[in-house]
Amino acid sequence: MPDSPPRLIVTIDGPAGTGKSAVSQQLAERLGLDCLDTGAMYRCVSLLAIRCSVDPADAVGLMRLIDTHTIDFDWQSHPPAIMLDKQPVEAEIRTGEVGRVVSIVAAIAPVRTAMVERQRAIADVHPRLVSEGRDQGSVVFPDAEVRFFLTADPEIRIQRRVRQLESCGRKVNEAAIRAEIEGRDTLDSTRSVGPLMCPVGAIEIDTSAVGLVGVVEQLEQVVRDRVSSAVLRPC
Ligand code: C5P
Repeated sequence: MPDSPPRLIVTIDGPAGTGKSAVSQQLAERLGLDCLDTGAMYRCVSLLAIRCSVDPADAVGLMRLIDTHTIDFDWQSHPPAIMLDKQPVEAEIRTGEVGRVVSIVAAIAPVRTAMVERQRAIADVHPRLVSEGRDQGSVVFPDAEVRFFLTADPEIRIQRRVRQLESCGRKVNEAAIRAEIEGRDTLDSTRSVGPLMCPVGAIEIDTSAVGLVGVVEQLEQVVRDRVSSAVLRPC
């Protein structure tokens, strides 16, 4: 029996518009790791709440939805596609409607407990993982081999999100995006459970003046410097 590959968890946290998703996917690809978008899980719960007309602040209603629907990923696709009741919902979770409620849903303690549990269960099956979100290095994987916190100037984050949506052919209302990002940042960083924060001991990287490739190269170098080559090259 070949040895199971050594665990290697890299966490990337940070506010909206710091480039976490693109950086995580490219870093995972360069290092041969899987990639977990935990924001997609909270967005999926929010989509469910909207579809089922459950108040995004109703903890009991949300937990009933979580217990009676399946939220998982198709690990055969790259990046792994978020699935709700076995159906792909990537486009549906990225709407402004979901964006406006997701931080309310994500502040509900039992919802967070359920998602944290699932994220750890995913890591049991995919122990070589880049996991991105708001609480990955602080709460979910405080013992991760490498933990990053990405920041960027707020105005740059807003402009990045505008360009990202425009490049997907979406009609963009800049004022609405500004309000959504500022609102989410405030709720995410002030909630009592799993708030957005730079985890103690994490490496903070300001991406304001660095392009995507530059950030990915910087993170890759840190991981290669910190982790032994035996762990980077699994058997
Ligand atoms: O990463 P993304 O912007 O898609 O995340 C959407 C929202 O999900 C965040 O604004 C936050 O409210 C919530 N979230 C969270 N904890 C995570 C990931 C996302 O609270 N680990």
